[in-house]
Amino acid sequence: MAGGARSFPGRGMRDKLVVGNWKMNGGLKQNDALLASLRSDWDAPAGRRLAVCVPFPYLWQAQAALSGSTIAWGAQNVSERAAGAFTGEVSAAMIAEFGCRYAIVGHSERRTLYGETDAVVAAKAAAVIAGGLTPIVCVGETLPERDAGATESVVMQQLEAVIGALGAGVSAIVVAYEPVWAIGTGRTATPQQAQDVHRLLHSRLAEAGAADVLVLYGGSVKADNAKALFACADIDGGLIGGASLKADEFLAIARA
Ligand code: PEP
Repeated sequence: MAGGARSFPGRGMRDKLVVGNWKMNGGLKQNDALLASLRSDWDAPAGRRLAVCVPFPYLWQAQAALSGSTIAWGAQNVSERAAGAFTGEVSAAMIAEFGCRYAIVGHSERRTLYGETDAVVAAKAAAVIAGGLTPIVCVGETLPERDAGATESVVMQQLEAVIGALGAGVSAIVVAYEPVWAIGTGRTATPQQAQDVHRLLHSRLAEAGAADVLVLYGGSVKADNAKALFACADIDGGLIGGASLKADEFLAIARA
């Protein structure tokens, strides 16, 4: 059963959160248009929260365009270090100065293309919390891992690293379950496939004293499949890549 009431003790009704991940896309002019549309067209229905995670150079622009609105903004990565001789890195304290509420950590593109290990991702999550922000910690299996029946062990190992590093602080994170085979491919997990993994993640989080952590789903979410996914009992919203670059589509997902 994909829908229905939440089944974890201590876990109350929570707002749905939809977060856009622009990835390495954008430009000053197109960002202005996108951010202005989001600001003017988002009617902030009760129980829905919206955020965009933009490339570092555009954080000031998101701050200028969205300050005073109900839309939050954040970064897509952050250094696990606080400060010092780490050329090219950006700290949590730096992004906090631009009003960020969120930083994505452990996106599969960072794990795969930039070699980020579970330990690095956990250290980044800790750095984000130390900076006063909320890390959106991504977990997810590849297609060969799913085909080998290893989905549960892969996502649990990724989550376990974060729980191990944060201890009780794990209640300050958001988790995004993003099956790697569904990211940018047009292939979405079925609501039941997603719900099964979300339930597992929630059950481990509840055991760790973090029953209220939101678990978002990400991977080719579009306006036409969002409703069925978000109707699942343990899916608390979405992390949206490609579709977050079009205001109409992104807002339709957030309203779904
Ligand atoms: C993502 O980048 O986090 C993502 C889910 O991408 P897409 O929605 O394009 O699959």
